[in-house]
Amino acid sequence: MRVLSFLLILLTFGFVKAEIKVVATYPYIASITKEIVKEKAQVDYLASGNLDPHFIVPKPSLTVKLRNADLLIINGAGLEIGWLPPLLNQASNRKINPGSNGFLDLSQYINLIEKPENVSRAMGDVHPEGNPHFHLDPYNVPIISQVITEKLCKLDGSNCDYYKNNLSDFKKRWNEKLAVWNSKMASLKGVKVYQYHKLFDYFLKRYGIISVDTIEPLPGIPPTAKHLEELILKSKSENVKMILQDVYHPIKPAKYISEKMGLKIVVLPHDAGAVEEAKDMFSLFDTIVERMNK
Ligand SMILES: [Zn+2]
Repeated sequence: MRVLSFLLILLTFGFVKAEIKVVATYPYIASITKEIVKEKAQVDYLASGNLDPHFIVPKPSLTVKLRNADLLIINGAGLEIGWLPPLLNQASNRKINPGSNGFLDLSQYINLIEKPENVSRAMGDVHPEGNPHFHLDPYNVPIISQVITEKLCKLDGSNCDYYKNNLSDFKKRWNEKLAVWNSKMASLKGVKVYQYHKLFDYFLKRYGIISVDTIEPLPGIPPTAKHLEELILKSKSENVKMILQDVYHPIKPAKYISEKMGLKIVVLPHDAGAVEEAKDMFSLFDTIVERMNK
């Protein structure tokens, strides 16, 4: 009891600074943030890595996490548009609302690809601002880690040097891994693939792999029988070698095409926690590179 009151006095007079609470929308953001803060802040996330990042069920437990947060880091570019706004509303935590100090939208610092030229829904339902899956370009990860560090320094200046040291250590280890991934991916340059959703476009673009088409005809729209027949025909004329399947869309259409045309199906994780081996950002890319090279 005595210890407790002593702590209370220290807190009241500001001698002990409570560690800040960071909430990220996705596990990949939490993984990068943990590399920077280590034990100096609490890091949590809202969406499980094995779910469709566009469609997360807004549960009350997620509202509780937001209510207690000092900093909210989101992917942005419309990825959370379908599920985060009602949670933020319910949490009514002014510190982390868009525009406040405790809010960070990573997409603001990234060059998005596939930006639609007009605001029609021609690009499909779920990518109206361009392709939001930018964390799958491993070259965007150092940019993201830098932006997160700068925000942490603003909110928690007393630990800024510590965060910056961790950032440079993280970047060094990341660059070493990049060299490994680059050399392993070089042999796949020019290979043609199908994907279910435009999920891996940043990764494929980085390594010169050609995404010929997607199993869903438009982002967020399920495939029709007619579209699958077109994909079967096109796989032959375009010499498509593999189908990249994510962990949350049905695998049946890929199997249907694969059985007819002998294409290889490669199931890829898109976030930490999507498959067992992909535990953090390093093992996420290790797993993608390994599975594509199998
Ligand atoms: Zn998407």
